[in-house]
Amino acid sequence: MARPGNKIIQAKLVLLGDMGTGKTSLVLRFIKGQFYDHQEPTIGAAFFTQILSLTEATVKFDIWDTAGQERYHSLAPMYYRGAAAAVVVYDISSTDTFNRAKKWVQELHRQVSPGNQNLVMALVGNKSDLNSHREVEAEEAEQFSQESGMFYMETSAKTAQNINELFYEIAKRLARIS
Ligand code: GDP
Ligand code: MG
Repeated sequence: MARPGNKIIQAKLVLLGDMGTGKTSLVLRFIKGQFYDHQEPTIGAAFFTQILSLTEATVKFDIWDTAGQERYHSLAPMYYRGAAAAVVVYDISSTDTFNRAKKWVQELHRQVSPGNQNLVMALVGNKSDLNSHREVEAEEAEQFSQESGMFYMETSAKTAQNINELFYEIAKRLARIS
């Protein structure tokens, strides 16, 4: 229950990033607390809701996951419309997905940012459990995220590392600006 005086914030959150980086797995880990080794690419044709209670606000997330359309390297404008938060995901064990994440950030800026200076943007290096196969240094990603007005975090949908932290950080930032 929201306490009197506690703000309720409804926020659309969109996930971007190449196929196979773990977007659907991140959401399923956050919502269901589970990890699926053989995630079907299209299973996440979906819309999820989740509520996070902070002391300063209650944040109701409407999470938009792709149905595999990212395969074509673009998403329909309606996917971005009205977004309050965006999470751009790459795989730390793949430089290709990091380079593609940069393109997704450009696309995000083009689609959303001009009309929404308050958009909360996170750059996520997922699959941190694959550290022994790392191709992208955290410092490089951190630097790119700062230049792009984003915050950076490394997660693992497999081990659950930083999954709740990611969504709490977004919720806190939304509470601060709303
Ligand atoms: P999406 O296409 O971006 O939605 O990616 P999926 O969530 O479908 O994940 C693609 C593949 O990567 C699946 O086989 C997942 O099990 C795997 N995967 C997702 N997250 C992680 C992770 O954090 N660590 C590892 N090792 N594998 C992951
Ligand atoms: Mg998916």
